[in-house]
Amino acid sequence: MSEEMDFQGAYCPIPLPHGEHIVLGHGSGGKMSQDLIANLFQAIFNNPILNRGDDAAVIPISDKEKLVISTDSHVVDPLFFPGGDIGRLAICGTVNDVAVMGATPKYISVGFILEEGLETATLGRIVTSMQQAADEAQVRIVTGDTKVVPKGKADGLYINTCGIGTVPAEINITGCMAQPGDIVILSGTMGDHGIAVVSARGDLGLESNIRSDVAPLNGMISQMMQAGEIHTMRDPTRGGVGTTLNEIARQSKVAIWIEESRLPVKPEVAMACELLGFDPLYIANEGKVIAIVKRQDADAILNVMREHPYGKDAQIIGEVKESPQNRVLMRTAIGSTRIIETLSGELLPRIC
Ligand code: MG
Repeated sequence: MSEEMDFQGAYCPIPLPHGEHIVLGHGSGGKMSQDLIANLFQAIFNNPILNRGDDAAVIPISDKEKLVISTDSHVVDPLFFPGGDIGRLAICGTVNDVAVMGATPKYISVGFILEEGLETATLGRIVTSMQQAADEAQVRIVTGDTKVVPKGKADGLYINTCGIGTVPAEINITGCMAQPGDIVILSGTMGDHGIAVVSARGDLGLESNIRSDVAPLNGMISQMMQAGEIHTMRDPTRGGVGTTLNEIARQSKVAIWIEESRLPVKPEVAMACELLGFDPLYIANEGKVIAIVKRQDADAILNVMREHPYGKDAQIIGEVKESPQNRVLMRTAIGSTRIIETLSGELLPRIC
């Protein structure tokens, strides 16, 4: 067999996940995404930095500092929605993935994939919004790339970003560090972004005044780090708080117990979720962080969050226990216990 045939014959060294074709569920951020990442990307790219499974790669560069790198692609539909747009989303999402590793985000690259026919004025609005978000986050957009594809081959525009930051060598905030006894804090209400985008689409017959929470969280996170000891942070984007807590429980091999009565949800979001049959625990957020912190420091960290505009609705939502390992459990409002699973398929495609 020639080398070319070998390549075109779909040679793959590992069993492929979930059937022969990619489906929307592979982009959900839930179980199907995780299977694709673990069984294909990590299995083939296979190295310890990637396989750690955090929001960003952490690479030692000297005795004093580690480099933190994250990449993200943005395909949200529509391009503009209440509270934000694809440009603000691209910058904030990238900044947040670097910041949740305890790092200071510094530089960002942007790659644009533009569809022939896109209005230049639309692109101008989006790029201006990106610069405004970058100013707020105090990061600089320092390199980029532009490609144009024929009409019909993309939907307006897609944006890919890469974020780079640094973290002092002694700081080790990762998904693996949650410990029994730790306290779980959520920085605000669940599901605002997902419901804002769905209602902007108008295709579910839903109208609401909900605005996306899309925001750069690095400023608040740096104040939180000064207030106390943080073991794990993650932004609950696609898959929502429920899926993100499951990722952490598995990475840290612990149980996370949450209380339904403590979960912050705006009444309008709760109502929209009820109408649409969604659970706010699985709806995307773009300006929220889950922090798992040392029990003794929880109040001090919560207080600085509540003083910050992006954390004013912060709540302690639960705690970390030893068992049942790798599980998330919720004590419901009526006193029963419910297992919170990872989101399985696709709930809302093209939400970010
Ligand atoms: Mg993230």
